Amino acid sequence: MNTVVRILRYVLPYKKNLFVSSGAMFLSVIFNMATVIIIIPLINVLFDPVYPTVQTVPELSIGTMKAWAYGKMNNAMAMTDPVTALKALCLLLVLTFFFKNLFQYAQSWTMAPAEQGIIRDLRHRLYEHMNRLSLSYFTDKKKGMLMARIISDVQLVNDSAIAVVNSLFRDPPQILVYTVLLFLFDWQLTLVVFVLLPLTGYILTKIANWVKRESGRLQESLARLTSVLEEGLSSMRIIRAFRTERFEIGKFRRENDTYYRTFVSIKRRRDMAAPITEILSVLVMVVILWFMGDAILSGRSSMSSGVFVAYIFAMLQMMQPLKHFGQTLNQISQGVAGAERVFSVLDIEPRIVDQPDAVDIDGFHDCIEYQDVRFHYDTGDEVLTGVNATIRAGEVVAIVGPSGVGKSTMVDLFPRFYDVSEGRILIDGRDIRDITIHSLRGLMGIVTQETFLFNATIRENIAYGEETLDGERLIAAAQAANAHDFIMETPFGYDTVIGDRGVKLSGGQRQRLSIARAIYKNPPLLILDEATSALDTESEALVQSAIENLMAGRTSIVIAHRLSTIKRADRIYVLNHGRVMETGTHDELLDIPDGLYTRLYHMQFQE
Ligand code: ADP
Repeated sequence: MNTVVRILRYVLPYKKNLFVSSGAMFLSVIFNMATVIIIIPLINVLFDPVYPTVQTVPELSIGTMKAWAYGKMNNAMAMTDPVTALKALCLLLVLTFFFKNLFQYAQSWTMAPAEQGIIRDLRHRLYEHMNRLSLSYFTDKKKGMLMARIISDVQLVNDSAIAVVNSLFRDPPQILVYTVLLFLFDWQLTLVVFVLLPLTGYILTKIANWVKRESGRLQESLARLTSVLEEGLSSMRIIRAFRTERFEIGKFRRENDTYYRTFVSIKRRRDMAAPITEILSVLVMVVILWFMGDAILSGRSSMSSGVFVAYIFAMLQMMQPLKHFGQTLNQISQGVAGAERVFSVLDIEPRIVDQPDAVDIDGFHDCIEYQDVRFHYDTGDEVLTGVNATIRAGEVVAIVGPSGVGKSTMVDLFPRFYDVSEGRILIDGRDIRDITIHSLRGLMGIVTQETFLFNATIRENIAYGEETLDGERLIAAAQAANAHDFIMETPFGYDTVIGDRGVKLSGGQRQRLSIARAIYKNPPLLILDEATSALDTESEALVQSAIENLMAGRTSIVIAHRLSTIKRADRIYVLNHGRVMETGTHDELLDIPDGLYTRLYHMQFQE
C-alpha cells in the first residue's frame, strides 16, 4: 500500500492532465453510448418497419420505462419516411462516432505527458540519487543491478502502475456504462454473458501467460547466442592462433540450435493462441445467439431486431475496455514489484554527506595529517590498521608497498570517497569531515591509472568539470601535458570527438589527456596514482615529463611506481600490513639494512 501511495506522489504533479483526460473520457463514453442507441432505430427502420404504438404515461419500473422509450423512438420514426430517417440516422451515427473518437484521442493526448512524465521523473530522481550515493555502493555486481533499476524496473512501473492510473480513468466508466446498457436491454441474457465472460477471460489470460513464459526463455537464449558471437568475434586472433575454430564453431552451433528449437516451440504456441481464441469467442457468441434466439422464438422476449443488433454491438464494444482492464489488473503486481525495487534504491541513505555545520575551505596552506586511521570496507577485514602520515604544503609524498596493501584505499580516504572507520584526517588542522565535500574535492586534482575519458571532444574532456572554458589556458595545459602535438594531428584538433572511453587514442595519449585535465583544473593538491602498465619508451618519457610539469608547484601525494618519482619525493611512506612500516627519503630508506623498502627496491626498481 505504501508503495502505491509513493507512486501516486509521482502522479500528483500531473493531476491537471488527469482531470482533463477524465473529462474527455466521460464525453467519449457518452458518445459511445449514443452510437449503441442509434443502432436500434437504424436497424428497426430497415427490418421492423411496423412500429408498435406508444404507451402513454410510464410507471416507474424498468420494463415500462424501456417500453416507453422504445415507443417514443418508434413514434418519431413513424412520422418520417424511412429513407429520410435512414439518411438522418446514418449521419448521426457518423457524427457520434466522430465525437467519440475525438474525445478518446483527447483523452490519450492529455494523458501521454502524464504517463511518460512519471517515468521520466522517476528515472531522473534515481540517477540523481545514485550520484549522491557513497562510492562503496558501486561494486561491479551492483552496477548491473542499478542499470536494471533505472531502465527496466522504471519501465515496469510505467507499463503497469502508471497504466493503472490511465486505465482507471478510461476502462471502468466504459465497462460500467455498457453493463448498465446491457442489463437494460435484457437482464437475463446479460447474466448469462457475465458468467461466460470471466470464464473465457480467464482461459485467454492463461493462454497468454503460457506463451509469455516461453518468451523469457527465448530472450535468454538470444542473450547467450549474442555473447558467444561477441566473444568469438573479438577473439578471432586468439582463436586462429590456438586453432580452436572447430571448438568455437561448435559452441556457436549449440547456442544457435537451442535458439532455433526454442523459437520453433514458441512459434507453435503462439500460433495456437489465435485459433483457440477464435473458437472460444465463437462458442460464446453461439451460446448467446442460441439463448437470445430461443427467447425470441418462444416469445419470452419481445426484442426488436434493432435492440438485438445493438445488444451484440454493445457487447463487442465492451470487450476492449474489459480486456484492457484485465491486463492492467494483471500488471499491477508486476508494477508494484518494480516500484518496490526502485524505491529500495531511493531509500538508501548516502553515507558520505556534509555535516550540518560543515564549512567551505578555500585553500591549502599548511599540512595534511593522517592520525591513527583505521579502515575496512563493508565487506572484508580491516585494510588500514592505524596509519599515521603527514603531508606538508609543497611536498611530494610517495606511497609505496606491495600490491593490495591498501595504498589506493589510503589515498581514497582523503577526498572522502570513503570515510575512515576510526581515527581522523586533518587538513590545516581541521577534520575533513567538518568541511563541505564540494570545497574539499575542489582542492584536489586526481589522476588515476584508469584514465577516464568521455565520449566528447578533446576540448570538453580537458575542461571536464570546469565552469569556464579558457582557450589559451586549455592549450597551455595540453602543451604542459605533452598532448598538444598529437591533438593537432587529429582530424579536428581540439574539436575531435574521442570514442567511447577514448578508444581511438593510445594508452600514453589517454594518460596525457587526463594529465592535461588535471593541469587545466590547476588544483593546489594533486593525487596521482601512477600507471603500472608499461608504455613504450618514447611514450613513457612523454608521460613522465608531463607528470613532472603537473607536479611542479603543487603538493602531491603519489602512489609511486616510477623510480624517478620516488627518488625526488620529499618523503616516502612504505605501507605493509595496513600500516606505515618505514618513512624517509629514498636514500634514508635504502640505508635500512634488510628493510622492506630496500627489498621492494631491489625487486621492482633495480632494472
Ligand atoms: P593497493 O592500492 O595497495 O594495491 P588497495 O587499496 O587497492 O591496495 O586494496 C587494499 C585491499 O582492500 C585489498 O585487499 C583489496 O582487495 C581491498 N579492496 C579494495 N577496494 C575494495 C572495495 N571497494 N571493497 C572491498 N574491498 C576492497
